[in-house]
Amino acid sequence: MTLWYIGVLALVLVLFSFGVSVLLARKLYTDLDNNLKTTVDATTVSILREMRKGRSARDAASDALDEHIGPRQAAAFFDANGSLVAENTALNGIHAPLPTFESPAADQIRLYSTSERNESEQRRVIVKRATAPPAQTYAIVVSQPLDEVTNGLRTIRLILLFSILGALVLAGLGGWFLARRSLAPVVQMTEQARRMSADNLEQRLPISNPHDELGRLAATFNELFGRLDESLSQQRRFMADASHELRTPLSVMRTATGVTLEQEQRSDSEYRDALKVIDQQVRRLTRIVADMFTLARADAGRRALHRNDFYLDELVWECVRAAEFLGSRRGVTIRLGNLPEIPYRGDEGLLRQLILNLLDNAIKHTPSEGEVYVGLERHDSEHRIIVSDTGRGIPPEAQPHIFERFYRVDKSRSRTEASDLGAGAGLGLSIARWIAETHHGRLELRSSDQTGSVFVASLPASEPRQRAAF
Ligand code: ADP
Repeated sequence: MTLWYIGVLALVLVLFSFGVSVLLARKLYTDLDNNLKTTVDATTVSILREMRKGRSARDAASDALDEHIGPRQAAAFFDANGSLVAENTALNGIHAPLPTFESPAADQIRLYSTSERNESEQRRVIVKRATAPPAQTYAIVVSQPLDEVTNGLRTIRLILLFSILGALVLAGLGGWFLARRSLAPVVQMTEQARRMSADNLEQRLPISNPHDELGRLAATFNELFGRLDESLSQQRRFMADASHELRTPLSVMRTATGVTLEQEQRSDSEYRDALKVIDQQVRRLTRIVADMFTLARADAGRRALHRNDFYLDELVWECVRAAEFLGSRRGVTIRLGNLPEIPYRGDEGLLRQLILNLLDNAIKHTPSEGEVYVGLERHDSEHRIIVSDTGRGIPPEAQPHIFERFYRVDKSRSRTEASDLGAGAGLGLSIARWIAETHHGRLELRSSDQTGSVFVASLPASEPRQRAAF
């Protein structure tokens, strides 16, 4: 950055100085030429005037040269043959010879520079041809040293050169300092980012100034790390909880087989009992694995919605029929509310699972003689499936957590309770909520106390059709 900065500045300064020096040289040379023209014109006028008065060319020229020629100038007056008539040498004895090339036409001037090798000895020369009556022509030569101009230009160029060098050094130091200062947060961020890994994702990048671009970049990265950290911890919790849940049925089965195989011979009924236990646990395992699979695919965004057209009221009715068996076994009555006809487009399989999960929970947590109510409501913008029970309710402190994965209110109780519908691994409600949300709806616990709980699943009336997969 600093090198680029210096490079661009150097280019600009060099171009600028070049321009200044060219313009200045032109101006100084023009001034010098104008000065010579004025001198030679004044001298010529003076000589011709005197000659017209009858004075000899030599006298007139001597006087005019004395009067008009400056101390650093050399001048000479030649007749038509090129013979010197009068001259005025410069202070250092320099003459003004008639140039070897052809003189200019009458009353014309010619300007040229001598070409001495030593620049300080070069001179600017003007030659003028003057005509005097009756038909005499004379040549006047005036020369002036160029050293004032060349020295002036050299000084200016030196000043410009040193100014450029000084400006570049200053700009380089300033640019380097600024670049270091402004990139210091990037260096810090890089070092911090290098130290970070999956094990310490709770660390964050330093934010030097939250209002500038780098600060906002760091804040954005920090938000990203936050989300990654959260999702990584979620994955870890999921893994830990999942292995914990899978261990229980496996150890129950191991105990059952171990105890049964301890003795050489067992009665048929004992084998049968053992197989029953194993069957129950295998069902439970299957259920947990299926639930985990559903959630894992949902997380990975790979569970496509299989939408079809069906009637919500029929689906609710089917689910109630399926749950009635479980209800009657537990002495729980299932009361079906009014079912308005609602054609719907969605994933019927997933919505069935949602309703069954709610029903399963309601029946499981309702004591015998209790009642589970299932209702379906049609509203303008949404349809509501309501499942309420007269169970013992969910303690207020547990209510915010029931939709979390693997969360159970009473862990020891529900794990031993096997159910035909839910496995009791604490995944039922999180799957149900995911199903509602993936249909752009909601699942909420409307109320829960000692008299029972009310769950409401709301599905949008016109399900958006553009998203076939999620
Ligand atoms: P599980 O599959 O173990 O039932 P859920 O995710 O479905 O897990 O439910 C989480 C917890 O919420 C359960 O452990 C249970 O204690 C509580 N719960 C869910 N529904 C009800 C209900 N209708 N009445 C009382 N408690 C409930």
